[in-house]
Amino acid sequence: MRAVVFEQYQSTPVLKDVPKPVPGPGEVLLKVAGAGACHSDVAVFREFSEEFGPAQLKPSFILGHENSGWVEELGEGVSGIAIGDAYLVYGPIGCGHCPACSRGQDTYCANAAKMPYLASGLGRDGGMAEYLRVPARNLVPLGDADPVAAAPLSDAGLTPYHAIKKALPTLAGGGKHVLVIGLGGLGQLAVQILTALTGATVIATDTKDDAMRRAEEAGAVTVGGGPDQAARIRELTGGKGADAVFDFVGIDPTIKLAMESVALRGRVTVVGIGNGNYTWNFYGVPYEVELTSTYWGTIEELHEVVALYRDGQITPEVEIFAMDDALEAYRRLEAGELSARAVVAPGR
Ligand SMILES: [Zn+2]
Ligand SMILES: [Zn+2]
Repeated sequence: MRAVVFEQYQSTPVLKDVPKPVPGPGEVLLKVAGAGACHSDVAVFREFSEEFGPAQLKPSFILGHENSGWVEELGEGVSGIAIGDAYLVYGPIGCGHCPACSRGQDTYCANAAKMPYLASGLGRDGGMAEYLRVPARNLVPLGDADPVAAAPLSDAGLTPYHAIKKALPTLAGGGKHVLVIGLGGLGQLAVQILTALTGATVIATDTKDDAMRRAEEAGAVTVGGGPDQAARIRELTGGKGADAVFDFVGIDPTIKLAMESVALRGRVTVVGIGNGNYTWNFYGVPYEVELTSTYWGTIEELHEVVALYRDGQITPEVEIFAMDDALEAYRRLEAGELSARAVVAPGR
């Protein structure tokens, strides 16, 4: 079968023929419907090396950690899953039996250091291929919803969903405001999820006008950049600041903007892996402000994300690429030429 393989550190992945996988005990073979191209893939094949980055991400393996597909074959001991049904794949794969894995949070597996991989497409073969082999436990049913457009939900949908759910207590009640910084794939879905889950006024900011226009269509009030950006955001909240802030960029200036815009007792979640720094000072931020990070989400939450998708409350914007154009999808992702999530659909 055709697959996009990360073969060596700090080099472009290659499109090549590899053997079709065989599902092991407890696993399912999926015919891939869609595989999303994510910025973290670029970090994997451009930035990591023998010395830097998780040991589990050593090449080579097939990329693609945002996957969906139709059941093609069942491994030994798997039942209750029908051939041909469409599923979204929960990417992270932990040990399956520690406290974190038991609550469906494989991202925080207590035995992660001993696992040979982190997720499908991150250390073990992913979905940028015609077929994908995954544990049956990682499947979330899509019913009759479009599986190709659903693929990015397993990361670009689940990551903001998890961050937002953790911040819901700060957004409960009337008169609340929430700020979304960075309107790429995750930020746009964050605006839709916040609109679906809360009654808060959603304020959004980005450097690209078309990204802000799309956030407005999803119900957000937008603020452009500039030296008085934090002041304009505060003005939109009636002076109090945003009760919750989500930073989907995570570089020095965006974390600073988040901390300048947050309300007393508010919560700032840095979602973007921009590796930025921030100097905290007791008098520099309102009292009881929380600053935290987040990473991916749980299997249970992915079921909830799919429920929102099937209800039409969230719609990922995707640009579909054929298998032969998969490397072009990564090239455009790296060049910043995409305005929607690139999804490689081997069937198209
Ligand atoms: Zn990702
Ligand atoms: Zn575990």
